[in-house]
Amino acid sequence: MNFIVLTIFPEMFNPFWEHGIIKRAIDRNKIFASAINIRDFAEDRHCITDDRPYGGGCGMVMKPEPLAGAIRAATKQSPSSKTILLTPQGRCFNQSVAHELASYDGVILVCGRYEGVDERICHDLIDDEISIGDYVLTGGELAAMVIIDAVTRLIPGTLGGKDSAEKDSFSDGVLEHAHYTRPRMFEGAEVPEVLLSGNHKEIEKWRLETSLIRTFLKRRDLLEKRPLSRQEIEILKKWCLDIEKIIQDQSLRGSDTLPGGQ
Ligand code: SAM
Repeated sequence: MNFIVLTIFPEMFNPFWEHGIIKRAIDRNKIFASAINIRDFAEDRHCITDDRPYGGGCGMVMKPEPLAGAIRAATKQSPSSKTILLTPQGRCFNQSVAHELASYDGVILVCGRYEGVDERICHDLIDDEISIGDYVLTGGELAAMVIIDAVTRLIPGTLGGKDSAEKDSFSDGVLEHAHYTRPRMFEGAEVPEVLLSGNHKEIEKWRLETSLIRTFLKRRDLLEKRPLSRQEIEILKKWCLDIEKIIQDQSLRGSDTLPGGQ
């Protein structure tokens, strides 16, 4: 997959290309990544890429000519790529959008700065607009890195484990199960016994249970949207019964006073 970033700060990407999974994906030709300097397409000798907004007001706006030149050059390099403008006004990036982008041959990510880009860029040169969340960054570069990172790990062969990305949070509409590693005892807290049992069926069951309970406790909205399997419904029903039993036992004991006589 080909990632081309259009930015006025291409050097921000050098350390990004040179570390971890991204570096390995580049080294193994799983992804091709480059940054094009929008300033190289400025039409004046000072390489100016911004100007004052028509209608007045504060801040500067990215001029259309250098952006258009950079987008056309990138499209020439990678004609089947989709051109995406990074903007807080775009559709929200999530794991399903990451999967969608991972199915493309390539993406050209256009990073805005200042108050944003001249609106006319969006008429014919942009295929999609993406936001990485409901907050405003000073530029699109961090958003581009977030997208490249999330999409790259979905490309087969970029991660260590065969199925690491398949089991990640959100891939199956729930949060991933809890993880533990050595030591077996850490500051008084033990690793759950089942994980040491070697019983793979029980371990899988425990993982499914922790995945569901975490999703229920931390991101209930995900469970509400997602169809549940028969096994998942059984697990949830069992919790319901367990919780009901605790409540019933407490009510029978008439425990409407809090400990400590409060
Ligand atoms: N004035 C713009 C607005 O209110 O919609 C915000 C401009 S922002 C200061 C400058 C640039 O940062 C944007 O053009 C965009 O490329 C990038 N940016 C800021 N927040 C972003 C977000 N949440 N997702 C993606 N890109 C973002």
